[in-house]
Amino acid sequence: YTGKSGDQLLSEKLQKILVSDYQSRPVVVNENVSVYDAIVTMFLEDVGTLFVVDQNSILAGVLSRKDLLRASLGNQELSALPVNIIMTRMPNITVCRKEDLLTDVAMKLIDRQIDAIPVIRETEAGFEVIGRITKTSITRAFVSLGNAE
Ligand code: ADP
Repeated sequence: YTGKSGDQLLSEKLQKILVSDYQSRPVVVNENVSVYDAIVTMFLEDVGTLFVVDQNSILAGVLSRKDLLRASLGNQELSALPVNIIMTRMPNITVCRKEDLLTDVAMKLIDRQIDAIPVIRETEAGFEVIGRITKTSITRAFVSLGNAE
């Protein structure tokens, strides 16, 4: 009998956790909505990151809190400014898939210094947004690992 160390057991458990186990609902806005409406949506939906989609519901960009703050500084016409002017756009979006390991996605959050990553499904038209992984998802996974018997 070769006993496994606690670290080994923990690491084995971690390597079994998938994005699909912890992904949450994505909050999306159309690329034609205004910065003003995006700010309202961010408050009403209580999220820190919005995903921007085109008319075909395909991922076009990402809006963070600071993207919206930056656009608001010294700009009075927020309801006339479309979000596609200020968003981080494809192909520069970091994405993940529901079958990815959560630990790999956590590493992407750290490496890219971002708060959220869209969970996507590849279609012929582009990436369809089906979920989101955020720093909160990783915190929930961390806590449940600690609670496991
Ligand atoms: P904040 O800017 O509010 O601190 P983030 O750290 O998540 O929030 O975002 C930093 C920058 O990275 C922003 O300009 C944002 O548009 C961009 N960003 C956020 N998430 C992603 C992502 N998944 N892929 C590419 N860029 C992203």
